[in-house]
Amino acid sequence: MVRYESGLIEEIKANVNIVDIISQYVVLKRKGRNYFGLCPFHNEKSPSFSVSENKQIFHCFGCGAGGDALLFIQKIENISFNEALEILAEKANITLPKIETSKEEQEKLHIQEKVYQINEFAANYFHKNLYNSSAKPAQEYVKKRKLNNATLQNFQIGYSGNFDDLYQELKKNGFQDQEIFESKLVIRSKNGKPSDAFKRRLMFPIKDVKDRVIAFGGRALDDSKPKYINSPDTVCYSKGRNLYGLNIAKKTDKDFIIMVEGYMDAISLHQRGINNVVASLRNSSYRETVKTIKKIYI
Ligand SMILES: [Zn+2]
Repeated sequence: MVRYESGLIEEIKANVNIVDIISQYVVLKRKGRNYFGLCPFHNEKSPSFSVSENKQIFHCFGCGAGGDALLFIQKIENISFNEALEILAEKANITLPKIETSKEEQEKLHIQEKVYQINEFAANYFHKNLYNSSAKPAQEYVKKRKLNNATLQNFQIGYSGNFDDLYQELKKNGFQDQEIFESKLVIRSKNGKPSDAFKRRLMFPIKDVKDRVIAFGGRALDDSKPKYINSPDTVCYSKGRNLYGLNIAKKTDKDFIIMVEGYMDAISLHQRGINNVVASLRNSSYRETVKTIKKIYI
């Protein structure tokens, strides 16, 4: 989507010379009224790439590529129209106006920012809670699975409280109802009262590649069904596009990653020094998963 007014785009183009722009990438020689060089868009031995200073356009007689300075930058740098315009504006010494965001957009960004903060807060709260006497079932479970303290800290593994414990903590720390419900860590119970979405569960914060907490997985430690529950999609989280442990796996220098099924499989391997491991999150399709990995690695 073009975000700038056409008048401004024309002004920017009028303040640069296409010959100067293209000369930064292609050796140009003047022949009559035009300039010629070897085409950067196809392989050739004799120059069929021409630039007209007069018309401020380029054209290749070999491959047919052609257009103005903006298109040239887009093609050669493989960037979007807006990005190319930003480069040209800088060369033309023209400051681009700040893009105004609408009120709704600002509100959406504000809520999203708050939900990230709530997730971060909850991850810390659950993790601290793991060391409390009330977290006995969780402590016994991690002991049984032989998770050491470094692993518990690295993965910020935690234990969720009872009733509305998290909700009360969030309120105490100044978070508002609207943003708390947006995080979906608190839901409304049948009688309309706030109730924590995860109760008495072993908690696994799910982080994105920027190390932000975006969601949680919670494992039941008693007979509660289902055994695992995951956060639903929120303003910060889309199941299909994330993998558990990718924030850590990404930092390894291995050129492949191992995908396992569950959180505990990934964590156990990490504890054994195998760090290029991720776990698929339930409901994420294979196709989306591959896309996610590709985006990070390729
Ligand atoms: Zn060409």
